[in-house]
Amino acid sequence: MVGRGLLADLPRRLAEHCPAHAYAVVSDSRVADLHGARVVAQLREAGLTAHLVTFPNGEWNKTRETWAEVTDALLRARVGRDGAVVALGGGVTGDLAGFVAATYLRGVPWVQVPTTLLAMIDASIGGKTGVNVPAGKNLVGAFHPPRFVLADVDTLATLPKPHIAAGMAEAVKHAVIADADHLHALLADAPAIRAKDPDALVRVVARGAALKEAVVAEDPREQGRRAVLNFGHTVGHAVEARSGFALLHGEAVAIGMAVEATLAESVGIAERGLARAVGSALETFGLPTSVPEDLGGEDLLETMQGDKKVRRAAFRFALPKRVGEMARSDDGAWTVEVETEKILQALAASR
Ligand code: NAD
Repeated sequence: MVGRGLLADLPRRLAEHCPAHAYAVVSDSRVADLHGARVVAQLREAGLTAHLVTFPNGEWNKTRETWAEVTDALLRARVGRDGAVVALGGGVTGDLAGFVAATYLRGVPWVQVPTTLLAMIDASIGGKTGVNVPAGKNLVGAFHPPRFVLADVDTLATLPKPHIAAGMAEAVKHAVIADADHLHALLADAPAIRAKDPDALVRVVARGAALKEAVVAEDPREQGRRAVLNFGHTVGHAVEARSGFALLHGEAVAIGMAVEATLAESVGIAERGLARAVGSALETFGLPTSVPEDLGGEDLLETMQGDKKVRRAAFRFALPKRVGEMARSDDGAWTVEVETEKILQALAASR
């Protein structure tokens, strides 16, 4: 559900699509301050039992330790098997609260109420939940689809602009993967999006979420085409982790897409001009496209090696052929094997 003013309708939709004896509204500290109390009050006014459970905001808190604290808080509140989780926040909250829902008392239902552009367009869709561990991002988790996703773009009024840009990285990704016309529409809407015009945001979220939903519906457990959603993420996750999470997830993915688009051209998979088209779209939204000077190529490769998307010893990437179309290997896979030397060259070229 995408639109304006939808939060007011949350109690009714919960009662209808996710009935529960009690709701644990899980939010990070910032979102809890901005929106949490209001949401919990609305649920209580509607006669529902609701508890606000918070954890400190920031990607570095998407950990097993925070998962343990949140599950303990649910146990203290005596939320039972007939309870449900409401994830109110960005992608970190969705991934963490979803993993809590997947595991709490062996699994309870949940819903997603994303409050960042990135979470509305991407993270809230598709049922992937999980936490980061020292070996890498999202390495412990579960597939646990929410009962519904309610994206109220009015919550974006409080979101700082760098996070709007970060969300646009995933919007550009979806367009590059599946829909060249969507990229043109995004670029035409860029000034309105940067100004946080609510109607433009509804358009971006509705189309982005639909594109992701179509890919996920075809391949819910990533056994085939869903791998295309990892475009930009093999390099992006390594850049994000090696930066010590100084870069936002969307910023790291933007750098990852710029590098991987260059790689796709250099190994002859992509038509010429792809890297320039991807880079310039990202720059339109104020996103970075260069690997930070202090992140060495060899170090990034080592981190990629630990990334779960890298199977066997080979490096495999989801790479575009052109804007709107992803490449397939001869064996039908949606990822393509690339030599280490080519990756190092693409990383060096992006500095
Ligand atoms: P985030 O959840 O950390 O949110 C970014 C920051 O914005 C946080 O500090 C948060 O407190 C704040 N915030 C959230 N909503 C706000 C609002 N309305 N007003 C003001 N501040 C607000 O990060 P994110 O960028 O939303 O998500 C990134 C995460 O999503 C990463 O961990 C990534 O791995 C994950 N992700 C998951 C999937 C998936 O399929 N499960 C897909 C893409 C990304």
